[in-house]
Amino acid sequence: MADIRDNIDGLVVLTGAGAAGAATLTAEGRKWLSRADVVIYDRLAGRDALALCRGEAEMIPAGKHPGGGEAQERINRLMVEKARAGKLVVRLKGGDPFVFGRGGEEAEALAAAGVPFRVVPGVTAGVAAAAYAGIPLTHRRIASTVTFVTGHEDPAKGGSAIDYSALARLETLVFYMSVANLPAIAQRLTEAGRAPETPAAIVEHAASPRQRTIVATLATVAAEARAADVAPPAVVIVGRVAGLRERLAWFEKLPLFGRTVLVTRSRRQSAQLTESLREAGACVIEAPAIEVRPLEDFKRLDAALADISGFDWLVLTSANGARFLFERLAAIGRDARALAGVKVAAIGPPTAEALRAGGITADLVPDEFTTERLGEAIAALPAAQRKRLLLARADISTPALAAGLTASGSKVVEVTLYRTTCPAALPGEAVEAVRAGSVDWITFTSASTVQNFLELAESAGLDTELPGVKLASIGPATSEALARRGLSAAATAQPHTADGLVQAIISAEAGGNR
Ligand code: SAH
Repeated sequence: MADIRDNIDGLVVLTGAGAAGAATLTAEGRKWLSRADVVIYDRLAGRDALALCRGEAEMIPAGKHPGGGEAQERINRLMVEKARAGKLVVRLKGGDPFVFGRGGEEAEALAAAGVPFRVVPGVTAGVAAAAYAGIPLTHRRIASTVTFVTGHEDPAKGGSAIDYSALARLETLVFYMSVANLPAIAQRLTEAGRAPETPAAIVEHAASPRQRTIVATLATVAAEARAADVAPPAVVIVGRVAGLRERLAWFEKLPLFGRTVLVTRSRRQSAQLTESLREAGACVIEAPAIEVRPLEDFKRLDAALADISGFDWLVLTSANGARFLFERLAAIGRDARALAGVKVAAIGPPTAEALRAGGITADLVPDEFTTERLGEAIAALPAAQRKRLLLARADISTPALAAGLTASGSKVVEVTLYRTTCPAALPGEAVEAVRAGSVDWITFTSASTVQNFLELAESAGLDTELPGVKLASIGPATSEALARRGLSAAATAQPHTADGLVQAIISAEAGGNR
């Protein structure tokens, strides 16, 4: 397929990033971000969106602050310049580009310069906040209109463009940028005739694990917001619909809402774990403590693959292993047919899944996903069916599996499929979160992530006793690695999978662990 960039000669895509990370970014927004040559992004556009950009994209922060007219000039100039140089420019803005984001002015500047542009809508903060707070903005019996209002103008000063007597007569009102002016806004609405007992909610950090929602009335909302130290970003929703939250709140009730979890898996592998944790409401910080890399020398592996039909079983103990196996087969001009006639054992569902992706259905998956159970399951086969076994694994695998199988009478050949290395350092965000005491859980999915994480934590100057943090382990080998360092798991996955790990954390949080 031809890359769309080949057909584009200078284009600016004004793109809404959504008001709260990945959950509020549209598929269309993702598409343009993943193709952009240049990304000019706002402070409020989250890092989830930025993570989708290509490594070689030029990333330009547009550090714009309220009232920063000069900065706006610079942004307009940059967009025009980059587009005229033939680039695909994504101008990434928080929420929706055409709702209180000066996206209109930016489009005008592009139109005036004759630069082609498109607009990709995003989920605006008022809509995101309402959904995540459980406040329907309209409701057949309660509200037929909804109005978005900027609270940035101080209504106490003269010359406000906002007609409060008109607003007072409308149903749902959503105020953006309104924390500072909330007392004046509430007062003006009341003076203009809105009932002081009208429900009013303030939603801070909407749709994020830090979301806080206060429901009060027009008469009390300003005082309550001050008492609770509410700070931007926040929206204020005024109207009878705000009273529905009591029954409709759902987000704060998710089992891991408000919990911060560090994931130490390699980035390539962490996607599913991270996603399940987020679905359970957690704030996830990725802190990869392991990296997987291809081998430097393929001699032994290639020799084993050349002779593969001479084995009864091929035994794989990780999804990475399965992926690297197919990669190597492809590199030497072969494919899944090389494994015809060989039975294949997989340690657990992700490994079996990776095999299936390469066109192979595993012949054996043990009932418990540990190397111990895998060894027992193979040893239980008739001796004539397991004379020669090929164990293809990572460079750091434990010797116990091969030893056990040899003792059971099989001839075992071990080859390495990939290397694992320790990253140079933990991401700064992860180190700071641990230091600040804001991490509730750290998940470990292998003995080597335990070892590497503690090493990296130590060189970052963190206390390796990890006080105040609960540890979650995927299975016995990982728990043993923790025990060797004097640590113990507060939750252990059962079954030993990513989903099992999330479930174990959820039940530990609910107080139901063991
Ligand atoms: N174009 C953006 C709005 C930019 S104005 C949009 O469509 O959402 C910035 C204001 O948006 C903030 O002052 C706040 O009122 C609101 N806002 C942005 N993100 C928010 C969030 N996560 N929670 C609550 N309000 C938010």
